[in-house]
Amino acid sequence: MKLVSVPMVMISRFLALMALLVLGSGLGPAPAQEADPYQPLRERMVTQQLKARGISDPRVLAAMGKVPRHLFVPERLAPLAYGDHPLPIGSGQTISQPYIVALMTEWAEIKAGDKVLEVGTGSGYQAAVLAELTDKVFSIDIRPELAEKAAGLLQSLNYRQVKVKSGDGYQGWPQEAPFDAILVTAAASRVPPALETQLREGGRLVIPLGPAGAVQTLTRFRKTQGKLQEDSRLPVAFVPLVQPEEGK
Ligand code: SAH
Repeated sequence: MKLVSVPMVMISRFLALMALLVLGSGLGPAPAQEADPYQPLRERMVTQQLKARGISDPRVLAAMGKVPRHLFVPERLAPLAYGDHPLPIGSGQTISQPYIVALMTEWAEIKAGDKVLEVGTGSGYQAAVLAELTDKVFSIDIRPELAEKAAGLLQSLNYRQVKVKSGDGYQGWPQEAPFDAILVTAAASRVPPALETQLREGGRLVIPLGPAGAVQTLTRFRKTQGKLQEDSRLPVAFVPLVQPEEGK
């Protein structure tokens, strides 16, 4: 008897669940917009990769839970978009691992209305995450094809508050300076002097520092009394911030 009763319970539970699903589909309120099949993966990413590792700023977690990362990677890689790793985005470049995007964003301490510069637009994903936190995001990429593609995607996803330009990030964006936060998403051997100049007093600069092709140190500086003070670090691996003649 016991052997039979267990499957019976399971079958009746299954039937009850099916009935609920069938009823639910006919009676529930119409969804406001088409369901995003990647939503469960995105939620799992936030819980297992971000919260579990100590990302705690609710605004950052909400932004990471909202931006459709799968649209920022090549279509064939979309099923891998929420995995715990970087992915190629073309032109030999990569979109960073979700945790690194979240950490850089958290370290940048962005408040609504802050003016933010990103050096290294790439896919536009980090810029979209920043745009969830403030309406003034400026992003530069040295590779015109990446800048153009990212600008088009951000526009189509309604991230109109992001301004993208193609140019050399070592020079920053002097016309828009000063910035409350600057994020550099490619590795440099030292802080580009123009970026230091363009950071506002009290502003945050997050940048991977170290040699190309080796482990670098993601470093957060705060500008205090006109000087950069380092206050956080983490070992990372980024593609290099190239000089203009190398970016062709
Ligand atoms: N933040 C991006 C990933 C950046 S990958 C994202 O969310 O997808 C690093 C990017 O830095 C590449 O797109 C590369 O073209 C760009 N880059 C490299 N050197 C640069 C420079 N000197 N100025 C501006 N962008 C640069």
